[in-house]
Amino acid sequence: MQPFTGSFTQQEPIAEDAIGAAVEVLRSGRLHRYNTVGDELGPVAELEKAYAAYQGSTYCLACTSGGYAMSTALRALGVGVGDRVLTNAFTLAPVPGAIAAVGADAVLVEITPDLVIDLDDLEAKIRATSPKAMLLSNMRGHLCDMDALMAVLNRQGVPLIEDCAHTMGASWNGRKSGSFGIAGCFSTQTYKHMNSGEGGFLTSNDCEFMARAIMLSGSYMLYDRHGAGPSPDVFKDIRLDTPNMSGRMDNLRAAILLPQLATLETNIDRWNDRHDLIANRLRAVAGVYVPNRPPQERYVGSSFQFLIPDSDAETMRQVVSSAKELGVELKWFGAASPVGFTSNHQSWRYVTPQDLPRTDAILAGLLDMRIPLTFSLEDCAQVADIIVHAVGQALQKGAA
Ligand SMILES: *Cc1c(COP(=O)(O)O)cnc(C)c1O
Repeated sequence: MQPFTGSFTQQEPIAEDAIGAAVEVLRSGRLHRYNTVGDELGPVAELEKAYAAYQGSTYCLACTSGGYAMSTALRALGVGVGDRVLTNAFTLAPVPGAIAAVGADAVLVEITPDLVIDLDDLEAKIRATSPKAMLLSNMRGHLCDMDALMAVLNRQGVPLIEDCAHTMGASWNGRKSGSFGIAGCFSTQTYKHMNSGEGGFLTSNDCEFMARAIMLSGSYMLYDRHGAGPSPDVFKDIRLDTPNMSGRMDNLRAAILLPQLATLETNIDRWNDRHDLIANRLRAVAGVYVPNRPPQERYVGSSFQFLIPDSDAETMRQVVSSAKELGVELKWFGAASPVGFTSNHQSWRYVTPQDLPRTDAILAGLLDMRIPLTFSLEDCAQVADIIVHAVGQALQKGAA
C-alpha cells in the first residue's frame, strides 16, 4: 500500500489579501486596537462588527484566545471560587482550564457514543450539584440536540456558555452554534476554522454581560471604541466595578482574520466534502462506528472521529501504529498518558477525580483525525483507504 505523505498539521497559507492587510498594519505602526486616528474604527473593531453580523449576535468581543473567551464569559456571568460548572467529560484541556481559572469546580458530564453530552446524566448532575453555569463543549464539532438541552437547562435555571472552538459556522435547526445560551466562545488558533495563530471571540446578546466582558478584556475607559459593544450608558457602573484582566486582540491579527471571514462559508463546504468522503467510507466498515449526525445539524467537518466499540487497548494501539506506518496520524483518546494536544479527564489532576464509566468506555475506542484543507479529495480517499486497511488488519489480528 502506498504511504500517504501529506502533513496533518499543515494549514493553507494566509491569503494574499490578508497578508496585504497585515503589512499595511505593520507599516502604520499602530498595532494596538485603541491606537486609532480620528473616528476610524480600526481593524479589531471592524472585525468585531463583521463577526457579530456573521454570527447573528448583537455583540462581539475579539480577544486573545478561545480559552480567554471562556474564562471571561464565566467571570462576566459571576462564576467564582467554589462555584460548580458543568462541562463535557470529553473535551480539550482549555475547557476545564477556563473553569479552574475562575476558581470554580468542574462537574464532568458523561457523553454518548455520538460524542455529545448525555442529557440524562446532565439532569442528574444538575440535581446533585446545584451548578452555577454550564460550559458546553461542542467537542470536535458534534452538536447535541440543542432544543432538548435548552429544555433541560431552562427547566433547571442553569445559564449556558457554549465552547464553539470546533463549531464556528455550524448550526442546529438553522440557528448558529453559540447563540443558544448567554454566550458563544470561539477560537482563531491555527488549527480552528480561521487562523490568526492565536485569538478568540466572545459573542452575546446580553448588554450588561458584554459590558462586563469588555471591561474584563482590558478596555480601560475606551469601551466606546468597540465595533459591536453595548452603548456607553450600559458601562456607567460596570466600568468602575469590573477589574481589567488584559486579553485584547491586536490589529495585526484582526487584519489577518477579516478577509478570512469572507471565505469561511466556502471553506466549510470544502471541509465537509473531505470529511464526508472519509466518513462514508468508514461507515461501511464492519466493527467501526461513525458518530451519527442528525439532520438538524449543520456541522463543520474540520476533523473526523470514529469508534471501534468494545475493542481492547492492544487493538487500538495496533490501528494507530499501522495507520502511522502508512503516514496517517490518528489520535487515540483512550491512551493512559496524554500526548500532544490530546488528554482525557484522568490527566486533569487539578479537577476533583470523577467516575465516568460510560465516557471512559467510549474514549477507549475513539480515534480522531484532523482534516486540513491542504488535503485534496484524492488525498482524503487515500487516507480513508489507509484507515480501512489499518482497522481491518488490527481487527483480524484481534480475532486471530
Ligand atoms: C482549541 C480549543 C479551545 C481553546 O482555544 P484556544 O484559542 O487555543 O484557547 C477550547 N475548546 C476546544 C474544544 C478547543 O479545541
